[in-house]
Amino acid sequence: MMREPARQCVACREKRPKRELFRLVRDPEGEVIIDIRHRADGRGAYICRNESCIELARKKRGIDRSLKCRTADELYDRLKGYIYEQT
Ligand SMILES: [Zn+2]
Repeated sequence: MMREPARQCVACREKRPKRELFRLVRDPEGEVIIDIRHRADGRGAYICRNESCIELARKKRGIDRSLKCRTADELYDRLKGYIYEQT
């Protein structure tokens, strides 16, 4: 069986297959975008597709540290909105 590439969640620090994670990318303007299809270029950070990791990342600023930028609160609400969406 092929092993899927694993990435570490910025909140809980567990390694998971990429499809179980959201990918966040910092664009050239320093904005953090949610890379739903895992195709954007640039420095990426990964986070589990669950509310507890999103809330933990919001509190601990793991995405900010990983991408060296500031995330808006609104980003976390958008991530939560994507949890139950089919991508
Ligand atoms: Zn996690």
